[in-house]
Amino acid sequence: MPGGVQLNTHDPLRLNVGFMLHESVGFSRNFDFDLPEVAIEDIQLAAFSGNASLTRTAQGLYAQGEFTAISPSQCVRCLGEYDQQLAAELSELFAYPPASASDPQLAVSVTGILDLIPILRDCFLLAVPLQLLCNPDCKALCAICGNDRNQAACDHPEAEVDPRFEVLKSLLPKQ
Ligand SMILES: [Zn+2]
Ligand SMILES: [Zn+2]
Repeated sequence: MPGGVQLNTHDPLRLNVGFMLHESVGFSRNFDFDLPEVAIEDIQLAAFSGNASLTRTAQGLYAQGEFTAISPSQCVRCLGEYDQQLAAELSELFAYPPASASDPQLAVSVTGILDLIPILRDCFLLAVPLQLLCNPDCKALCAICGNDRNQAACDHPEAEVDPRFEVLKSLLPKQ
């Protein structure tokens, strides 16, 4: 979206919103994000982009935002590295003055800084799928030879008997 407020280059997720606190209720501004790399505390993200719309309310600043990013991840099936796409939405009131906040993370500081980092960390943690898969159809590593079956089919028979079943078979009474 054009016409967004300039971000702090060294700390783009901590927004300088002091100029909004003197405005009347309903005053609104957009903050656009397009960061090749960003660290949200312990979460490393690439291609972070999105926008946040901030609106002055009687209680502080209401923030609504949508963000997408890439998280470098490892597939649980084939153990390959891949780029996990993540999307997060934000819809929170940041209280001002901060003394009125019930949650200190959801407050604009007395110096006029709105810190998006704690809330974005929560949003992106929730956005991570329970099962990290490079592809929903990932064929996984072969349980017999360890080959990555996404790269090439195995050259041994598909259904070899699991050696553990051979042991069980030897325990069965002879026919
Ligand atoms: Zn995989
Ligand atoms: Zn194999």
